[in-house]
Amino acid sequence: MLESGVAQILDGKAVAASVRGKLKATVDDVVSRGLRRPGLAVILVGDNPASQIYVRNKIEACRKTGIESHCQKFPVDVSQRLVLESIRQLNKDTTIDGILVQLPLPEHLAADAILAELAPDKDVDGLHPLNMGLLLMGRLALRPCTPQGIMVLLEYYGIGLAGKRAVVIGRSNLVGKPIALMLMEKNATVTVCHSKSAGLEELARSADVLVVAVGRQSLVRGSWVKPGAAVVDVGIHRLETTQGDVEIVGDVHFQEVAQVASYITPVPGGIGPMTVAMLLSNTVRAYQEHIMLR
Ligand code: NAD
Repeated sequence: MLESGVAQILDGKAVAASVRGKLKATVDDVVSRGLRRPGLAVILVGDNPASQIYVRNKIEACRKTGIESHCQKFPVDVSQRLVLESIRQLNKDTTIDGILVQLPLPEHLAADAILAELAPDKDVDGLHPLNMGLLLMGRLALRPCTPQGIMVLLEYYGIGLAGKRAVVIGRSNLVGKPIALMLMEKNATVTVCHSKSAGLEELARSADVLVVAVGRQSLVRGSWVKPGAAVVDVGIHRLETTQGDVEIVGDVHFQEVAQVASYITPVPGGIGPMTVAMLLSNTVRAYQEHIMLR
């Protein structure tokens, strides 16, 4: 690791653009040979403004990469039966390679049952129990996009993990648990912290690589970070400024931590775009398997 000072930015926006460029070349090549384009279906329930923005970004990223995508929108009070039925249809549709259920779902819907209904080979968010199980076993599978994006970004900047101490704050199925497994797979010594962890600040300070996925604005301060550490901020918070603008910040106090760490992901422009790039990557991967099989 570098000496402490002003941290190098881990530029997720730029790395995601490079990933997208390679995916587009792959898609263009296959399409030039007369095959269909990859297809992604997004299921969006309700009118959560953040979810609508995320889905719009994903659809736009698909368009730029040459992936056909469409969004199936349901009203907030849709029944579980209708959502499951739509997933079953998409599972059978041979033009669809990936199905993404935009989370969070309204409370009356059982997210676990809905995710379990996805065909595992179309589960481009990597959240089906089979894919989660394969990840646990260290086997190749469609893996959750956000932690996969973190790993690709760390690798791109040559941040070594073997023998390093990694601390993950947050233990969600979406981020905390899978990133802990992926860091372990790369031979880091991993500690997972959560809302009931005692001595959180001290644990964080022991990290060579600190991943923060909590959902609390600016939780991690400069004093929580070991000089020279790499800090990955997964949090996304949309704040309305007094001028009525929207400011996006993370779980890490960027200005303070950038003075202590060697590497830091910005918010926005860090893990967000990497997550979208990994969704495209998983979709192209599922597509390649499907066109080989059909
Ligand atoms: P979650 O609410 O499912 O999990 C949060 C975790 O943080 C829990 O495990 C909880 O135990 C832990 N936690 C809560 N308060 C804590 C505290 N005070 N100290 C220590 N641990 C605490 O959230 P999630 O889905 O993992 O998302 C976390 C954040 O990341 C959110 O801000 C979310 O918007 C963001 N997110 C961003 C992306 C992206 O693409 N950048 C993707 C997924 C989630």
